[in-house]
Order: sequence, then structure tokens, then C-alpha cells
Amino acid sequence: MFFRSFLKINLRTLILSLAIFSVVVTLGNSFYATYKVQRTLLIDNTLEANRVYAAKLAEMTDVFLNMTQDHLAYSASLLSSHMSDSKMLMNEARRLHQQSDTFNSVVVVNAEGMIIATSPQTLAIKGITIDSPNAQQSLKAKKPLITDPFISPAGNYLISLSHPVFSASGDYLGYIAGTIYLEQDNILAAILGKHYYNDGSYLYVVDRHKTLIYHPKEQRVGQKILNNIAIDEVVAGRENTRTLFNSEGIEMLAGFAPIQRAGWGVIAQRPKEATLAGLDGHIISVFIKSLPVAFFTLAGIWVSAVFISRPLWQLARDTTLIDKKEVQENISNIPSWYFEAAQLKRAIIKAMSLLNDKISQLHNDSHTDPMTSLLNRRGMQQVLDQYQKEQCSFAVITLDIDHFKRVNDSFGHDVGDKVIQALAQLMRNNARQEDALCRSGGEEFMIFLPNTKQSTAFKVAERLRLQVEGFEMPTAGFITISLGLSHWSGEPEAINSVLKQADKALYLAKQQGRNRTITTKK
Ligand code: GH3
Ligand code: MG
Ligand code: MG
Repeated sequence: MFFRSFLKINLRTLILSLAIFSVVVTLGNSFYATYKVQRTLLIDNTLEANRVYAAKLAEMTDVFLNMTQDHLAYSASLLSSHMSDSKMLMNEARRLHQQSDTFNSVVVVNAEGMIIATSPQTLAIKGITIDSPNAQQSLKAKKPLITDPFISPAGNYLISLSHPVFSASGDYLGYIAGTIYLEQDNILAAILGKHYYNDGSYLYVVDRHKTLIYHPKEQRVGQKILNNIAIDEVVAGRENTRTLFNSEGIEMLAGFAPIQRAGWGVIAQRPKEATLAGLDGHIISVFIKSLPVAFFTLAGIWVSAVFISRPLWQLARDTTLIDKKEVQENISNIPSWYFEAAQLKRAIIKAMSLLNDKISQLHNDSHTDPMTSLLNRRGMQQVLDQYQKEQCSFAVITLDIDHFKRVNDSFGHDVGDKVIQALAQLMRNNARQEDALCRSGGEEFMIFLPNTKQSTAFKVAERLRLQVEGFEMPTAGFITISLGLSHWSGEPEAINSVLKQADKALYLAKQQGRNRTITTKK
């Protein structure tokens, strides 16, 4: 029972476990929350950055296309009255081609679809009539146009920006067009730059039919991309962000914006994994930085747990030893610095003192005779045990009222009782403090005189006998007593045999006529 109660979890462990659990859960939760928030923030920021970047490039491209179309319009107006002047046509084509890096080539086409001037001349397509539907886009449009990609008569995969040439009277004379070779170094690549970082970020451009017209991997130019939500949205003219899987199955954070003038779309994207790559390290560094505070918090909790639990623990420990004498003092000394512990301590001390009073009262009651308040046989035995233990020599007097039956018979039992009580009082009057007085039977008594010689005890016995003889009892009058005397001077003699000797002496006193003291002869 004792061990079982001690094996139970204690308050300090309980407080500590609870506190550690709370700290761990709180920290874990805040790390998780930080991780979640940072993750969302990183993703949102990347999506937004890509959208802004795509929008910026779309705008730049738009400005460039606008400017380029102005240049073409200017050339077209120059050629308006010179469409049959092949030198002029050639000069204008060369000027337009060479004045900037905008076009990979420039061509002038007449109303019949025949190429009438080219720059560079090395193209060797002058005189050819263009017949494929794609190549005829500008011819048919008869208005400024940015074409869809097509393969030119010279075999280049290109787009062209064209402007119609009209005569002064408004007749359609053909068009002048600048081309951008999509599979070679071109102006688009120069404008869009090399947005191709180590972390896997890149951007690409699609035309209005979802065909790639710019991609960092040149071999992909010309591919038509279906089932891509970002492309679907951007060709529908929307600027937005999307999380999607690219053609290689990599999850991408894409931002996109349309180039309205051309119906194209710019898509900038970054792998989600690359975006979140630094997050784990970030969380670990947050964790490491929060360790000292967590450590001090736990240490603080530990110290508090010790201080809070100590008074209760001490009370619990001491109450398990409640039957030990010194415990009450120990409990009084327990510093109980908070209300509950102080109240418990006060209650325990109070309960212990009540208990002690009760026990000592019970002890007294069980060791005394209620009628005379002298020791009873149990009390007498305790005294003898004490003498034995301490090897304390003593003299013992046994005494018995002579012819007590007659008192009872003549005056009644109650008067008999009064006589017994009066005799007890006479015994008390005659005794020293250290003497033990005992009612050993009905009207029989014993007196123990510690550290007393037999001769002294004899005198005491005689003095008592004479006092009793001369004392008038209430109602009953005068009585006498007979006394037997013996002495114990320590081991090896048995105390019981000394008591028997005293009894024997008393018996002799009765035999020899009563009202006398007889000492045993050893
Ligand atoms: P002896 O001189 O031989 O002792 O004669 P005795 O009459 O005293 O004889 P004994 O000691 O044998 O008798 C004791 C009597 O004491 C018997 C009993 O009725 C009476 N007695 C015992 N206890 C009490 C008591 O508590 N109260 C009263 N009133 N009488 C008691
Ligand atoms: Mg008797
Ligand atoms: Mg008697």
C-alpha cells in the first residue's frame, strides 16, 4: 500500500508533464502555422511576381510592336508611288532591314503576291509568287497585320509584321513586311531576355492559336500547346496567375499577361519546388532561434513545479508517517507559501492534535479504573513493563479491605462503593508522585513504590493501615485493611513471582488476624 501510493505519479511530474506537453504543442503548432503562412506567402509572392513580370514584358512587347508598325507604315507611305521602281524598293527594304535589329528580313510584295524586293538579297526569293495560304495572310488582309507563324518560301519559320501599300488613289499595290525568324536569334528573344534561372524559372510566348512563338528551348517553338489553363486564359485576353503542371509534369507557379495588339500571351513561371526550397531551412532556423527561450521557459516551469509541488509533496510524505512522534513538528516546519498548502497544513496539524488528544484520552480511559481513578490491571501492567525495561527496583504493597462483605451486607452496595473510593483517596494522600496506585480487583489494591527499600515500604504500609484504621468512613464507620509486602530488585527475579509473594503475604496477614502488614521472607 505504502509503495503503491509512492509509485503513483507525483504532482511535480504532473505539472512538468503538463507544462512540457503544452510547450511542445504550442511550439509545434506555431512552427506549423509559421510554415503554412510562409508557404502560402512564398507561393502567392511568386505567383504575383510572375504575373507582374509577364505583364511588364507584354507591355514592352506591345510598345515594340506598335513602334515597329509605325516604321512599316512610314516605309509603306514612301513606297506608295514607287512600287515599280525596283531600286527604290530594294533601298527601302535594305534600310528597314539594316536600321535596327528588329527584322531578320524585309520583303516587298506586289498586289499579285510576287516578291519584288528583299533584304538581305541573299534570300534569293525575288520574283517568287507566294501561294501558300499562311504566306498569303498579309496579302489578303490589306491592312497592318501581325501574322500567325508560317514557313516562308525561303524555308524559315517566321512571323511577319506587314503594312499595306496603297496608291495615292487608294488602289492596293501590295505590302511591305518585316519578318521575325522564330527559330533563330530574333528581336523577341532580345526583348524577353534570358529569363532562365538556375532554379528552373522561365518564360515563353504563345500566339493566339496557342502555338509557342518564343520558348527558351528553341526546339519547342512552333509546338501547339493544348490543355494548359494558363495558355487558355491568356489567349482569351486575361492577366492572371495559376498553379499548373508543365509538359514535363513539374508543378509550376505561373503568372501571365496578354499582348493585346498581337493576340499573344506571355507566361512567366517558376517550379513550385524551387519556390519552397528555402522554406525548410527557414523553419529550422526559426526552430533553432526559439530554442533558448523554450529552454529557459522549460527551466522556469521546472523550478516553479518544484516550488509549487514541494509543500504538498512534503505534506504527503509526512502524513504517511503520521504515527511517528516527530511528524507533527516536521509538518509544522513545512514552508507552505500558498493558500491551498497552508490550509492543508493547518488542517493536518489540527487533525493530528485532535487525534493525539483523543488517543491519550482513550489510553487513559483504558488504563484507569473509572470508580477510583486509580490504575486498573492494564495500567498496572504498563507500569511494571516500564520498571522491567528500565530495571527499576520497587517495593509492592497489596492490600485488601477486611470483612468487606459485611459492609456491603450491612449498608448496601453503594455505601461499599463509597468506602472503596474513600480508601483510594487515603492511598493517594499517602503516596509520592512517582508511586503507582492500582485497583487490582473489587476491594483489593496495589501500591508500587519505585526505588524504595522494603523497610521504607513497610513504614509506608503501616502508616496507611493506621490512617485507615483511624478514618471514619461515610456511613460505614471504621474499617481496617490487611497488607502484604514484597520487593523486586531487578533481574533475574521474575516480577510475577514478586507479585505472588506480595499476595501470599497478604493472605498471611488475613490469616494472622487481619489489620496488619506482612512482609515476605525471601
Ligand atoms: P476478608 O477480610 O477475608 O477479605 O473478607 P471479605 O468480606 O472482604 O471477603 P472478600 O475479600 O472475599 O470479599 C470481597 C467482597 O467485596 C465481595 C464483594 O461483594 C465485595 N465487592 C467486590 N467489589 C466490590 C465493589 O466494587 N463494590 C462493592 N460495594 N462491593 C464489592
Ligand atoms: Mg478481597
Ligand atoms: Mg476483603
